[in-house]
Amino acid sequence: MGEMDKRTNLTGLSQAELVEFIQQSGEPTYRARQIFGALHHRRLRSFEEITELPKALRERLNETTTASTLTIESRYVSEDGTRRFLMKTHDNLPVETVFIPEERRDTICFSSQSGCPLQCTFCLTAQLGLLRSLSPGEIVEQIIIALNDVYGVGEKPPRGTNLVGMGAGEPFLNFDSLMKALGIMADPQGLFIVPHRVTVSTAGVVPRIRELATIPQRPNLAISLAAPTDDLRDELMPINKKWPLEELLGACKEFELTLKAGERFTFEYVMLDGINDSDEHARQLANLLNRHDLHARVNLIPHNPADPLPYQPSSTSRVERFKSILESKGVRTFVRRPRGRDIFAACGQLAARREPNTIQVSSQSIVA
Ligand code: SF4
Repeated sequence: MGEMDKRTNLTGLSQAELVEFIQQSGEPTYRARQIFGALHHRRLRSFEEITELPKALRERLNETTTASTLTIESRYVSEDGTRRFLMKTHDNLPVETVFIPEERRDTICFSSQSGCPLQCTFCLTAQLGLLRSLSPGEIVEQIIIALNDVYGVGEKPPRGTNLVGMGAGEPFLNFDSLMKALGIMADPQGLFIVPHRVTVSTAGVVPRIRELATIPQRPNLAISLAAPTDDLRDELMPINKKWPLEELLGACKEFELTLKAGERFTFEYVMLDGINDSDEHARQLANLLNRHDLHARVNLIPHNPADPLPYQPSSTSRVERFKSILESKGVRTFVRRPRGRDIFAACGQLAARREPNTIQVSSQSIVA
């Protein structure tokens, strides 16, 4: 802490901001381009490694700025190849990131906050409370760290990278930093991960859904629903008391009307055994979406059990039955396969756990 807090994290600046910063410090503009490329394209994490910069400049940068702030505390590898990174910020707060390999693409699930202020009852992160929102640099660094760990520093990933903002935190309560980080990552001279490769999930922060509807360069949107009625949603996701379903789905419709070709909009529905997974819930959900004339598809996500959460996942046959009811009412429905459950990397399981597993012990888990 202390001195480190005041240094500017250059990884959190856009290329244009970096140019301005470098010019103000009396250096030629091409240095800014060199630094941006080194940090974001070559994914270097310290000025010492940017050897094309004169030594004196590197030393000067080190005094007032920093190239990276997050450090890996531990890393867990699941038997399905998923990796969970537990990192910490310069002020010692946990940040979690999950790398999920898939046949054709990789997905990196990043966090937008350390902890989370929302109190979703099915989510382990909620139990941390909000520690603080992450800076744009801290969001970008998570992706750099994950790619370097999996492929080696600066190595080009063999597959494309998708990002999902579904880790710890409510991204729309850190909207400006999130959008800035996405802008930095979209730069063709940097990571070059464009917004349509990114999906951000919100628990329903209505004003930001409306704002996103007005932004042309934006990520795909997912809304976490978890319940088809206000009574049940108030209980499972207390944010519903602030923005109840009518208001939320009204904003969703506004957003849906602005969708352009290639943009994706989805609803996420966590399936909790005996809580929100009855035939009646399925009918209520279909009616709710149809009444608001929403065409977005629904992703059913079997809950990921984690002590001390009081829920179990719905059975496979229950999930299938729920799906068929939705489909019979014209709602496109998919079932999402859980990944990395054995290392607490799955949805709703991020809570800075240091042990790889206390539920399904995996002999192949590696703790590095
Ligand atoms: S589900 Fe998301 S929004 Fe809800 S408490 Fe967990 S991290 Fe926060």
